[in-house]
Amino acid sequence: MSIEKLLIANRGEIALRIHRACHEMGIKTVAVHSTADADAMHVRLADQAVCIGPPAARDSYLNIPAIISAAEISGADAIHPGYGFLSENAQFAEIVEAHGLIFVGPKPEHIRVMGDKVEAKRTAGSLGLPLVPGSAGAIEDVVEAKAIARDIGYPVIIKAASGGGGRGMKVCASEDELESLMQQAGSEAKAAFGDATVYLEKYLGDPRHIEFQIFGDGEGNAIHLGERDCSLQRRHQKVLEEAPSPVISKAERDRMGGIVSKAMADMGYRGAGTIEFLYENGEFYFIEMNTRIQVEHPVTEMITGFDLVREQIRIAEGRPLSVAQEDLVFSGHAIECRINAEDPETFAPSPGKVQMLHVPGGMHVRVDSALYQGYNVPPYYDSMIGKLIVYGRTREGCLMRLKRALEEFVIEGMKTTIPLHQRLIADQDVQNGDYSIKWLEEWLERQKAD
Ligand code: ADP
Repeated sequence: MSIEKLLIANRGEIALRIHRACHEMGIKTVAVHSTADADAMHVRLADQAVCIGPPAARDSYLNIPAIISAAEISGADAIHPGYGFLSENAQFAEIVEAHGLIFVGPKPEHIRVMGDKVEAKRTAGSLGLPLVPGSAGAIEDVVEAKAIARDIGYPVIIKAASGGGGRGMKVCASEDELESLMQQAGSEAKAAFGDATVYLEKYLGDPRHIEFQIFGDGEGNAIHLGERDCSLQRRHQKVLEEAPSPVISKAERDRMGGIVSKAMADMGYRGAGTIEFLYENGEFYFIEMNTRIQVEHPVTEMITGFDLVREQIRIAEGRPLSVAQEDLVFSGHAIECRINAEDPETFAPSPGKVQMLHVPGGMHVRVDSALYQGYNVPPYYDSMIGKLIVYGRTREGCLMRLKRALEEFVIEGMKTTIPLHQRLIADQDVQNGDYSIKWLEEWLERQKAD
C-alpha cells in the first residue's frame, strides 16, 4: 500500500530528515509539536501541523492519544517515530496499527523483544550472534550473581534489563562491592525505567563500539550496510561516529555482516535496525539491538549512497528491499560530529536564541539540523542541535574536510560543542583511528589537567 500522507512523531533534525525523504518521494507530511515548538523548522516545512500538548515530552511527544488523534484529524495514513520518544515503544506501534495506520518501523513483537535487554541477549544468542559472557538471564539474588561473576571473572558490569541511553549500568571490580552495586543498579533502574531487573556481564577492558546497520523486509530477507564505529563516547553517549571503522577489514565486514543479516532474515525482521557490538582482540560481542533509525545513520548513507529513511518508508509500504547485498558498494569514508548546545568544557546545557548562523557547505559536506537564524532552542529537550557529516575518498581526506567544515561553522547565541570537535580531530590518536570506548573520557581528563 503506498503512503500518501505521513505523520512525523518527532522533532528537531530527525523530523526534518524524515520530512525531506517524504517530499522526495511525493509524500505529504504532518508535523506534530509541543507548544514550545510552534516555531520549529519541522513545523514550518511540513504540509500540515498539529499541536499535541505542552512542552514536557510526556505530555506531547510521548502523548499517544494526542498523536493518534492528530493522525486521524489530518488524514495521515502512516506514522514515522524517528529515534527516541516513542520509537521503541512496542505498545505505540501496536496502537498505530490497530488504528489502521502504517507504522514505519519493525513488527511490534520485535520491538518488544529487543527492548528488554535480557530477552534481546537470549534472542541474539539463539540467532547465532556472539554474546558478552555473562548471566543467562535476569539475576535474582546476590548468591547467584557471585557465582556467575566468579565464573566469568572480575570486573563485571551490572546492567538494567530496561536500560537505555547508557543509564542503569554499574561496573564492579570485586566481590566485596557486588551486593551494594547490585542494589544501587536495581533501585536506579526502578527509578528511571520502572523495572528493577538487572543482569550481569563481563566488563570488557578496552573495546571499541562497532554496530552493523541492517534492513529486513519482514518476509525473511535481510541485508547489511556495513558497520559504524561509535567508540568516541562520553558517559556512554556517542559524540563522533565514523564509517567504515578504521579497524575492520573487508573480510571481517563480510563475515560479520553475513552473520547479522542471516540472523535478521531468520527472525523475519522488518525495517531498519542496528546491531551493536563491543569489539576487542578481533572478537565481536553483541550488546544490544536498536529497532529504529539511528542518529548516526548518515555516515552509512555517505559511504553507500543509499537513503536509509526512504528505504524505511518503502518497506513500510510493503515493497521488497530495493538493493541486493551483492549490489551494495562501500566507498570512501564518512565522519559525523554531533553538535550539542552545551558548554564544550563542562557540558552544561546552553539553550538560547540563534543570533547568527552560518553552516558549512562545499563538496561532500552535509548538515542535518533544524536550526535557523532567530530560532530559540528550547530547554526542554535533548541538547543535540545538529549533525555535521563529511565524506572523503580516504579517511585522511575526510578528516581534512571535516577540519575545514568545522572552521566554517558559526553558531552564535549559545555555547556549542564545535570547539570540542575541533580539538578532538586534531588529536593524533583520533587521526590514527586509535581509540576505544574509554579513550574520550580519559582524553577529557587529560585536557582538564593541562
Ligand atoms: P544503552 O542501551 O544504555 O546505550 P548499551 O548496552 O548499548 O547500553 O551500552 C552502552 C555503552 O556502555 C557501550 O557502548 C559501552 O561503551 C558500554 N558497555 C556496555 N556493556 C559493556 C561491557 N560488557 N563492557 C564494557 N563496556 C560496556
